[in-house]
This record gives sequence, structure tokens and C-alpha cells, in this order.
Amino acid sequence: MIKSVLFIISSTVLLSSCKTEIQESVLYEELTPSAFRQRLAEAPVAYLPLGTLEYHGEHLPLGTDALHSKGFFTKMARENGGIVLPIMVLGPSWFTGKPIDTLIAIHCTPSPKTGSCYWIPDSVYHTLLDNQFSLLAKTGFEIVVVHGHAPSVIYVERHFKEWEKKYDIHIIPYFIYRDNGELGYSGHAGVNETSLMMYYYPDLVKIDSITSDASVTPYGIQGINPRGIASVQIAKDMETKHVAILNDKIEAILSNE
Ligand SMILES: [Zn+2]
Repeated sequence: MIKSVLFIISSTVLLSSCKTEIQESVLYEELTPSAFRQRLAEAPVAYLPLGTLEYHGEHLPLGTDALHSKGFFTKMARENGGIVLPIMVLGPSWFTGKPIDTLIAIHCTPSPKTGSCYWIPDSVYHTLLDNQFSLLAKTGFEIVVVHGHAPSVIYVERHFKEWEKKYDIHIIPYFIYRDNGELGYSGHAGVNETSLMMYYYPDLVKIDSITSDASVTPYGIQGINPRGIASVQIAKDMETKHVAILNDKIEAILSNE
């Protein structure tokens, strides 16, 4: 009797631990057609991480923008439904192919020293996005959320109305780190982005690669030195706040249809 009770208890523990380990994928490229159809029917929302391969200080990976957007979108899709698209790394930049004279422009520039490698002219980016939105509308999505590299999201902010009309979809350009002003943190590769990467991809952050001197802002970083300030908690607070805001926006659109 005791033996069989023990067996039931141990198999229940085993089953529940398996359940937590096997998490249904929310990544487009990993879905089978039936999983795709089911997720689309439950929430016709696509999340598009817009990124770069761009210098983000010595402590963060080159794909930082798209990686932390993908992390945030994965959380959104797991909690509220929808499908996360593969990362788009090519995009616009403060670098425009002309001579460069500011720090921010220098680290955007394609170079063997920085590894920055993503800039394409606006006309090419426009065509890429135009096709992406057209395809997503035809595939049955009603809402596309974009988030990631600032110039890419700003580009969508400038043009999304024309695509909404053309393809009868809703487009939400979003930044989770732009709206963190109450903490006074902002800027490329700074406290916000470093915190998000520490949370979503802890193994990829090499915080010891930048100086611990708080009075020095290391090369390629905007704002204050993130070392000693950036934290997983800052990222978790941002995530909680912005999952709620974005979910409200999506629900408002879907309930109006
Ligand atoms: Zn960034």
C-alpha cells in the first residue's frame, strides 16, 4: 500500500516536473502547421523583433536590440498569445553612408573594429517591411507589433498608417525601454538595455568588460555607466509594466473588431 502510494506520489511529481519543462513554442519558425493554426485562431497577433548587428559597448552582444525584443515578445506571446517572428537584423541607422562625426554615428558604421553590420537604405527597408506586412496580412494576422532598434521602430512609426490602410491590418510600433523615464535611465547600451540583456540572456552579458568607475561612461554607451546599476530587477519591472500596457492595446483593438 505504502509502496503504491509512493509510486503515485513520485509519478505525479515526475509528471508535473515534465509539464513545466515542456513549454509550447511561440516562435514562428518552430511551429507545426497545426500549432500555427491554433495559435493564430486564439490570437491573430505577430510580434516582429527589429534589430541590428551593432556595437553595444564591450559588454553586450552585437544583436542586443533584437535579442531583448525577442525576449520581451516571447514573454508576451506566452502570457497573452500570438506568434514571435524571426529577428529582422537589416535596417536603417543614424549612419547614412556619409562621413561620420559623432560617437553614436561611429559605432553604427560598418567596421571590423565594432562589428556593426546592418545598415540598408530607407528605400530597401521600406520594401522589406512592405512585403513583410503584406505577407502577414495574407497569412491571417490582424495585428503586428514591432519593437527593437530605435531607428527601425521610428521608421515604422512614420509609415505604419500607410501599411495599415494598404493591407487592412493594425500595426503597433513599440519601445519598452524608451518609456522608462521615471527611473532616469535611457540610452543605447545603457542601464535599460544592459538590464534587459542580464534578464533574458545572462550568459551573453560580459559586464566585467567595462570599467567599474561610475564616473566614466565607456565607449559606445549613452547615459551613465550601467555597471553596478543595471539589474535583473529593473528588467523585470519594465517587463511587467509593458506586458500590461501592450496587452491592453492589443485587447482594445481586438475587441473593437
Ligand atoms: Zn540597442
